[in-house]
Amino acid sequence: MKQIVFISGKGGTGKSTVVASLSLLVKNKIMADCDVDAPNLHLLLNGKRLQQDDYFGAEQAVIDSAICISCGRCRQVCRFDAISEDFQVLPMKCEGCGACVLACPVSAISLADVKTGETFVDSTERGTFSHALLDIGAEGSGKLVTEVKENLFGHINGEEWAIIDGSPGIGCSVIASMTGADAVVAVCEPTKSGQSDMERVLGVARHFGIPAFVCINKYDLNLKITAAIEHYCEKNGFPVIGKISFEPEIVKALQRLKTPVEAQIDNIVREIERLWNRLKAELGARDEFKEVMK
Ligand code: SF4
Ligand code: SF4
Repeated sequence: MKQIVFISGKGGTGKSTVVASLSLLVKNKIMADCDVDAPNLHLLLNGKRLQQDDYFGAEQAVIDSAICISCGRCRQVCRFDAISEDFQVLPMKCEGCGACVLACPVSAISLADVKTGETFVDSTERGTFSHALLDIGAEGSGKLVTEVKENLFGHINGEEWAIIDGSPGIGCSVIASMTGADAVVAVCEPTKSGQSDMERVLGVARHFGIPAFVCINKYDLNLKITAAIEHYCEKNGFPVIGKISFEPEIVKALQRLKTPVEAQIDNIVREIERLWNRLKAELGARDEFKEVMK
């Protein structure tokens, strides 16, 4: 199985639209939405639930009042003002830093796991799909992304591809998204900031030695910056495998929760098909090269 992760330097580049379209165009695959802060693939991929688990993504202090001797040391060390005058932990303020645990002279404080979301694996018409939903106010993390991927890989059944909607940005979540990938595809838009974000995320892929490719979305909105992106990619060895034109119909389709494939926006579908075929050809050529070099 080859694991392909779609990434972007920031959200809103069209990455999920490409992944959602591929969910219909590519056969014999499993999928995951690792954009855990703003997941949306589940809105398009209804299915039957196979697995559902609580996710414990934080810790909070718990004071055992039977042991507490009211010395006040915990209140003195807590930088988040998370312990009340009567030595109760205020859950909305506690950051789980553990300073109070170390300060307590009678070991009355411990850290307890806190549920911050749920993970799911669904069986859908387009293939097995793993995703997560965070509770309101909870933060995503590399740990949650790893859990989403592990859940997915626990349901492999001979599929050829794993298509993963990665986290945006260049932080811990995106690194967890990329871990173990056979290739990443950075989806960017032709703006100055889009180019800068793309260069940063490609730098992360290169740092971890993962083959990286580029798809320029809405490339025709600014041909000058598109040319600059292509020049950068050529110079730095990142093949541009897709260029998707601007199409106002996509917005209307997404408002109806339809992918470009379902909305039959044929020019866009052809461009996404071309991207996928080019990616397969690139990976095939690399595999052949590795065989020859053995
Ligand atoms: S774990 Fe940290 S934030 Fe929470 S109450 Fe203790 S010292 Fe304060
Ligand atoms: S440091 Fe421990 S004993 Fe002292 S007030 Fe806090 S919980 Fe109680």
